[in-house]
Amino acid sequence: MILSTYCLHCGERNNMDEGPQAVDALCGRCDRRVFEGRPIAADEAAFHKHTAPGFIPAVVMFWLMQRDIRFYTSNFDKCAALYEPRARFLTVSVDDLYALARSHNVMSAPTLAVFRDGRLVERHIGLPGWSDRRQSADLRNWLNAHIGSPQDA
Ligand SMILES: [Zn+2]
Repeated sequence: MILSTYCLHCGERNNMDEGPQAVDALCGRCDRRVFEGRPIAADEAAFHKHTAPGFIPAVVMFWLMQRDIRFYTSNFDKCAALYEPRARFLTVSVDDLYALARSHNVMSAPTLAVFRDGRLVERHIGLPGWSDRRQSADLRNWLNAHIGSPQDA
């Protein structure tokens, strides 16, 4: 199966064979790594590109800048490194893209959402396990259920 995603650096569409080696793919245009093991801070254009049909699933964290959620976002960052190339990880600032968030019925932040084939297919208000220290394991369990475990890549 062919995986398609956009380069983190130059935005070029890249196609690659599915498998563990896909995470090391180099961009056909700029020759840099297509995946860097970190989320993309998406503007509106990047959001629409990465959630479009025909691309790998996108895990999107809608969040509010002013809340002190660095602990949680650092877990999200680690998951990008763990789960790529199964999915592309994006962060969307609700402050900057309020209308976009509302158009996906995001009413509170953080909210986690999985987009597949152009559609929002899963949503989690708050981050899984966010209220206790099991957050990291709960987030991985949630991702395993909705995009598959990294071991199966
Ligand atoms: Zn590139």
